[in-house]
Amino acid sequence: MATIQILAFPSGPLATNAYVVICKETQNCAIIDPAPGIGKPFIQLIEQKKLIPTKIILTHSHWDHIADVKILADHFSLPVLVHKEDAYNLISPGSDGLGCRMSIEPRMPDQLLSDGDTIAIGTATWQVIHTPGHSPGSICLFCPEEKMLLSGDTLFKSSIGNLSFSSSCPARMWPSLKKLSLLPPETIVYPGHGPTTTIGKESFLDHAEDVFG
Ligand SMILES: [Zn+2]
Ligand SMILES: [Zn+2]
Repeated sequence: MATIQILAFPSGPLATNAYVVICKETQNCAIIDPAPGIGKPFIQLIEQKKLIPTKIILTHSHWDHIADVKILADHFSLPVLVHKEDAYNLISPGSDGLGCRMSIEPRMPDQLLSDGDTIAIGTATWQVIHTPGHSPGSICLFCPEEKMLLSGDTLFKSSIGNLSFSSSCPARMWPSLKKLSLLPPETIVYPGHGPTTTIGKESFLDHAEDVFG
């Protein structure tokens, strides 16, 4: 069984959680959501720990989750993976109308993700769960072997992602959260902001519209 270690680094003006997901068997790792200011610290960390980065995966393309993509992708020659419905804001940062607070260098995605895709990080397999709502191409990444979920800005501890942006869609959010309610309750959730939680603790998931609608 693969052993996965997830390191969280809140970074940037919104304390966005940038993650390094490490396969302890192979020392391969993936970078999730390179938040503002995390580029140089991640280069140092990865080189110090002698990790082998293999890809950058974006839970979605809001500015606070993509700011340091290019610095890391260029330094380690890494492919960048993003859901096909969120690729546009990586190619042209700011085109989602959020008014990003800093200038972000554009980056072409290398792989466009769809619901049900699988991604290897070392010996572990992660499933792409398309969870539109907060943004059209929001995804969660689920590792069934270890019952871990990277939830981006779809699900936080006791809360959900902002639905007031012009590119948000509440009608798509409720079914997305319902999908997450079907995961094993002991699944540990690593969100895009704030502390970890579990699927079981977030008991609103199957009726989120009543709570947040
Ligand atoms: Zn977001
Ligand atoms: Zn965010």
